[in-house]
Amino acid sequence: MLQVIVASLFFGFGILLAGEKGELFGQFAESASEVSLQIMSLIISLSPIGVFCLIAPVVAENGPVILGSLAMVLAVAYMGYILHAVLVYSSTVGVLGGVSPISFFKGMMPAMMMAFSSASSVGALPLNIECSEKLGARKDIASFTLPLGATINMDGTAIYQGVCTIFIASCFGITLTLPQQLTVILTATLASIGTAGVPGSGMIMLAMVLQSVGLPVEGIALVAGVDRVFDMGRTTVNITGDAACAIIVSRMEDRKEARNAR
Ligand code: ASP
Repeated sequence: MLQVIVASLFFGFGILLAGEKGELFGQFAESASEVSLQIMSLIISLSPIGVFCLIAPVVAENGPVILGSLAMVLAVAYMGYILHAVLVYSSTVGVLGGVSPISFFKGMMPAMMMAFSSASSVGALPLNIECSEKLGARKDIASFTLPLGATINMDGTAIYQGVCTIFIASCFGITLTLPQQLTVILTATLASIGTAGVPGSGMIMLAMVLQSVGLPVEGIALVAGVDRVFDMGRTTVNITGDAACAIIVSRMEDRKEARNAR
């Protein structure tokens, strides 16, 4: 995805530099994007059935005990997700974006529910664009920041990787030192940037975080059984952060334009 984004940026600059002659290509790209979003919407309307099919074998193979034994670490991860969304997004959207936190979360509900059920930032993208625009994000800004955010902005994934690394370390009887914990923060942030906006990719990138502090990669197996449940929450946080960013940048641009017009 990153390669696609970089190539798109170059094409975008090219279209601007070509002026009138580049307009047709710009319109073609816009129309192709609209068609892709419609196709994606059709596909994701089937996602609740898909989610059921993914969770059912995990519980059938391991029994409901698998959900019980990992309930604690799941609860910690979800507490992290909720604290981050409530503290960071509410305050930034309220102070910098001029949108009340209650209206923000209410307006974002359809996209958050889609992210929760599909566990895919990319899958929730069409709804995220729609919700953000309704909340005041500008079309030009939302259509750039949201696809970019769905690829590289993954706060929920970083929280998940941090929580799971500590959990896996304690399962192996290892206590992480302070420098190791700081390394986890750094590598989880980097790994989340490299994570693709599709289900399960955060768990694959968890290997990088574990290796950075010398933990065995096999530890991933401890959390793999319930990754879907982690993923639903972390994806919801990921897309909410993207929307908060789109709203804040739109508001900043509006203010800048108003200042320039004076
Ligand atoms: N499923 C997440 C997303 O799409 C990525 C991850 O697995 O952490 O945002």
